[in-house]
Amino acid sequence: MTKFALTWRYASALLLLAALAGGSYLVLDRVMEGEKRRAVVLDLSMRQRMLAQRVVVLGFVADRAPLPTVRETALADMQGAIRELLSLHARLGGLQTGDLAPPNSASWQEITWRMDVFVNTARTVARQAQAGKPLSQALVRRLHETGGLELLAGLDALILHHQAASEHSLALLDRLQLAFLLGTLALLAFMGVVLFRPLVNDIVADRRSLEIANEELAKLATVDCLTGLFNRRKLDEVVVREMELARRYADHVSLLMFDIDHFKAINDTLGHAVGDRVLAELGRLAATGMRSVDYVFRLGGEEFLILAPRTDDHAAFGVAEKLRQTIADHAFPDGVRLTVSFGVAEYRPGESLEDWLTRVDQAMYAAKRGGRNKTMAG
Ligand code: GH3
Ligand code: MG
Ligand code: MG
Repeated sequence: MTKFALTWRYASALLLLAALAGGSYLVLDRVMEGEKRRAVVLDLSMRQRMLAQRVVVLGFVADRAPLPTVRETALADMQGAIRELLSLHARLGGLQTGDLAPPNSASWQEITWRMDVFVNTARTVARQAQAGKPLSQALVRRLHETGGLELLAGLDALILHHQAASEHSLALLDRLQLAFLLGTLALLAFMGVVLFRPLVNDIVADRRSLEIANEELAKLATVDCLTGLFNRRKLDEVVVREMELARRYADHVSLLMFDIDHFKAINDTLGHAVGDRVLAELGRLAATGMRSVDYVFRLGGEEFLILAPRTDDHAAFGVAEKLRQTIADHAFPDGVRLTVSFGVAEYRPGESLEDWLTRVDQAMYAAKRGGRNKTMAG
């Protein structure tokens, strides 16, 4: 997956999630806000309902009270209740708009009208009681009918309407909650399939190719590219361990060094490219002639080294002679014939790598001095 495709998918998934969360918050907020205002309406309506009943009862008490003090108190309470009733009505009127408006616009006007009639009746009752006049049957019935029945019926209808609307809102919230849950799950599944799965696959594939590249690099760092043999770095890596093994187990390990005789002449007469082909062929010849536990290195130029574990100087000498003969008999590319000079040296427990290498190097130069195409032990 390209960086652009990944960013695009990532951004769209996050955007969708944000839209889902934001949208749900807005709807929820709106519903909750409406419900809070509806709760105020319900509270005011209930209080009005109770006040209306209180006014009716106080009217009866003021009319029938045997003691003037009781009547006075009842009348004062009645006036207070009427004032509160009117103030609540004004507050409630202010809330009957928008989504809180009753189902038909007439019903609030009707409640207002019933409230006016009831308040007027109650005031008439209060005035007559204040004057000490007994209330007529008709007035008592009117007070009961306008306040106790008609106004209460209107308020009850309003309360029922708002309760039904609340239940509807709650049902909506339920559905919204479910939709949000399903939406979130769907989005997570979408992110898993479209985003995370390819991402994980990419990461795993990237890691694998990185491992392969690293292995390749590590190999390249220890391999000579012309001959495919190990290089000097690999020698440093393995030789110390072989010396340690030989010392610890009182075993033998030998070095065999060889260098092409008069290689410069091959380069000079046939060219550098032919020289390269000859070197590559010589590397192949040396590698195939050795045991799998032996290491064959190209130290540089046309100089080679073989590290032969579990091999004493006698056996090493034999191996060197065999390979020297093979090389001398071999037809190299472009009809080149060549010989090599060998030096061999078995490791002496306790000596340093430098000393060991110097010994095998000196043995090889002794072979050169001795006429070349020879093997000398160091
Ligand atoms: P001697 O018998 O004393 O070893 O003689 P020589 O000519 O082989 O030795 P000398 O060290 O004088 O020359 C080695 C030559 O090897 C010099 C250089 O041009 C050549 N040589 C070194 N590395 C490479 C290489 O990678 N490719 C090619 N074609 N030639 C190389
Ligand atoms: Mg040489
Ligand atoms: Mg040389």
